[in-house]
Amino acid sequence: MNPQNHHSSTSTSTSAFSALAAYGWDADWADAFAPYAAEGLLPGRVVRVDRGQCDVVTADGTIRADTAFVTPHDPMRVLCTGDWAAVEPAGNPRYVRAYLPRRTAFVRSTSSKRSEGQILAANVDHAVVAVSCGADLDLGRIERFLALAWESGAQPVVVLTKADLVPDPVTRSYLVQDVETAAPGVPVLTVSAEQGDGLDTLAAVLGGGTSVLLGQSGAGKSTLANALLGTDVMDVQAVRDVDGKGRHTTTTRNLLALPGGGVLIDTPGLRGVGLWDAGSGVGQVFAEIEELAERCRFHDCAHESEPGCAVRAALEAGELPERRLESYRKLQRENQYIVAKTDARLRAEIRKEWKRKGAAGKAAMEAKRGRLR
Ligand code: GDP
Ligand code: ZN
Repeated sequence: MNPQNHHSSTSTSTSAFSALAAYGWDADWADAFAPYAAEGLLPGRVVRVDRGQCDVVTADGTIRADTAFVTPHDPMRVLCTGDWAAVEPAGNPRYVRAYLPRRTAFVRSTSSKRSEGQILAANVDHAVVAVSCGADLDLGRIERFLALAWESGAQPVVVLTKADLVPDPVTRSYLVQDVETAAPGVPVLTVSAEQGDGLDTLAAVLGGGTSVLLGQSGAGKSTLANALLGTDVMDVQAVRDVDGKGRHTTTTRNLLALPGGGVLIDTPGLRGVGLWDAGSGVGQVFAEIEELAERCRFHDCAHESEPGCAVRAALEAGELPERRLESYRKLQRENQYIVAKTDARLRAEIRKEWKRKGAAGKAAMEAKRGRLR
C-alpha cells in the first residue's frame, strides 16, 4: 500500500499510529504529543509550508491548515517542513495550534543584520551528501557539506552517485577510500540510479528515518530521489533550474514517504546551501585534527610554528594530509565570515583583530626596513 494515498478516516489511536509511522511517527513522538491529544488535537507531519498555510499529513489524509499560531517573529520558531504539528480536528480554516520540539534542524543564516537563521527542514535523521563519480573529486566541497550536515544534528551519509561511470571495481574502491579520509564517522556508499546498483543498501539506510539530499547541482540528487521513490516525483533539471534557484513547481510536496520505509525531504532552499553557518559541525568533520589539537602544548595553538604542536608533528610524520589541515582552516575562516556577516558584535571584534594584525605586520615591516637601511 502506498502510505501517501491515505484517505480513510480511521481515528482510533492505533490506526493513527500505523498510518503516521510511514511518516516517521514513533513512541517518543506519541509521548510528546500526549498533552495535545488530550486537547483533541490531531498529530500530523508538515509536508509543505507557504504563505500562511501548510499541508499536514494526518491519519485522516492531507489537511490544508492555517499557520497563524505557529508563525512567530523569531524565524527559527516558524513552522517548517518536517515538523510534527498539532492540528485542530475541525473548522474552517483549521489551525495548527503547536508543533513538537525538534530533534534536529537545518538552518540557513540569513543575510539580514540580525543574527537569526532561517529554518529549512526539521527532524532530519540522515543527510545524504550526493557526490558524482563522473566529476573530479572535490574533497573540500564534501567536507563543507558534511560540516553543514553535522551542524544540523543529522547523521551524514556520503553517496557516490553515477557509479556506472566508474565500472572498474578497483578504481571505485579507491574513490571510496579517498572520500573516507575526508569523512571520519560517515558511511560512504556507491550507487547507480541508472543501473540500480547500491540502491537497496541506500534504501535500507534511509529506511530508518527522515532524510535530505544535499550536494552540488548535477550530482544526481533528483535522479536518485526518483529511483528511491520509484516514481518521477522530482523533476530532473528541466523544471527546477528555470530560475536558477533550484525551485520546484509549486504543487510539489517537500516531504515524501519512501516505499521501502523512511521519508525524504526535498525543500527548495535546502539545495542552495551557499550561506549556511556550519558552526560546530566543522569540528566533527575534522575530528582527528581536533583530537590532535588537544595534545598541543598551548591551549590556543594555531598550529603554525608553536613549539609542542601535535598537529604539525602529525603532518611531519605523514599521518595527517596537508590538504586536510588547509581545508579545516578554510572552513573555519569561511564560517567565521558567515557568522560575522550576521553578528555585528563579532564583526567589530574581527575588524579590531585585523587592525591589530595589520599594525603588527606594519611595525614588523618597518623594523625590517630600518634594519636594512
Ligand atoms: P541534481 O542536480 O543533483 O538533481 O542532478 P540530476 O538528478 O538532475 O542529474 C544530473 C545529470 O546526471 C542528469 O543528466 C542525469 O541523467 C545524470 N545522472 C543521474 N544519475 C545518474 C546515474 O546513475 N548514472 C549516470 N550515468 N548518469 C546519471
Ligand atoms: Zn598545534
